[in-house]
Amino acid sequence: MFMLSPPVISLSAKLLLFIMLDWLGARMRRRRFQLPLRNQTMRISEGLRARRPFFSFEFFPPQDDAGVAQLLETIETLRSLRPAYVSITYGAGGSARARTVELSKRIQNEIGLTVMSHVTCVGSSKRDLRNLFYELRDSGIENIMALRGDPPRGQSAFVPDPNGFAYASELIAMLRREFDFCIGGAAYPEKHPDAVSFEDDLGHLVEKVNAGAEFLVTQLFFDNEAYFRFVERVRAAGIRVPILPGIWPITNYKQIARITAMCGSILPPKLRSELEARAEEPEAVKELGVSYATLQCTDLLRRGAPGIHFYTLNRSPATRAVVSALHAATAWQTYAELLAGSQPPPIGKLA
Ligand SMILES: Cc1cc2nc3c(=O)[nH]c(=O)nc-3n(C[C@H](O)[C@H](O)[C@H](O)COP(=O)(O)OP(=O)(O)OC[C@H]3O[C@@H](n4cnc5c(N)ncnc54)[C@H](O)[C@@H]3O)c2cc1C
Repeated sequence: MFMLSPPVISLSAKLLLFIMLDWLGARMRRRRFQLPLRNQTMRISEGLRARRPFFSFEFFPPQDDAGVAQLLETIETLRSLRPAYVSITYGAGGSARARTVELSKRIQNEIGLTVMSHVTCVGSSKRDLRNLFYELRDSGIENIMALRGDPPRGQSAFVPDPNGFAYASELIAMLRREFDFCIGGAAYPEKHPDAVSFEDDLGHLVEKVNAGAEFLVTQLFFDNEAYFRFVERVRAAGIRVPILPGIWPITNYKQIARITAMCGSILPPKLRSELEARAEEPEAVKELGVSYATLQCTDLLRRGAPGIHFYTLNRSPATRAVVSALHAATAWQTYAELLAGSQPPPIGKLA
């Protein structure tokens, strides 16, 4: 019988142990992220036609590796809620942009969720933007939220790059001409803060859709009537693409007061006074934020909104609570449909 000498045994045993551990580690990683799932990703415009309700979550790229690791855990937690897609925001400056691309790639290719990468025109020439789109395309990203962007900190007005674009519609036109992405655009139920009037803003929204935006995601709002009035006026102007309402579950009063002042969204007086009454009780603010967002989403879905886009602020508990409650109550079905046991109405009831 062939016998191995002791040092050879220990070397073979080590090698075997290493191979087993490596295999186990890969298996656990694959289980955790269920690799590879690239073929499950989709163009959002197609998903919007096929799936209802359509829930999506927005994240921003963290500053460092520890933040990225924590965010990937958060996304993993939210994954069980079956988001239709996740979107990754885009900051000003080179390193922030690189982080958007890196995070988009990792979420799509490692976690297997459909990603929409945001891109703005701030500080970029057409050439820079083209190169960025080549990189995103080559990484398998199919969906882009195309934006003008806000002026960088310390600058009061948006100044286009001399070789760049002044408006989102120009960026969208270039994307449509030269690439094959599914393109989303931003919409403002309570008017964009720079716009001279609602009508003027609406006219530019028509240009954005005519240039190639296939769906719209709204700025955050807290008054559903603002959304429904907006949808009515947008449809009257001839726009037919789906309009996903953007919902921000409030978790911090000071923060939401600052954000709404910046982006022009209105905090309804009754909600503001309830928040003010809890200004010294952070947990009570969060409870109110979750309850308010749940009521808001239920009303939106029952009245025909195609889904909800959640501004998550990279945290899972509030969004998880809201979406879980919506699922548990099948909040998109009207009372009559529940009684009849029928299917929910088709996507784009408002379209
Ligand atoms: C869903 C969503 C996601 C966002 N994500 C990000 C992000 O990742 N990073 C980030 O920095 N910011 C983000 N923003 C903020 C956004 O960049 C700002 O709101 C920005 O000020 C406007 O971007 P826009 O694409 O809507 O611009 P535009 O559609 O270009 O509109 C900007 C202003 O110009 C006016 N306008 C448009 N076209 C013309 C024209 N031809 N002539 C004259 N006026 C015109 C519009 O009425 C409006 O007042 C997001 C906003 C939303 C709603």
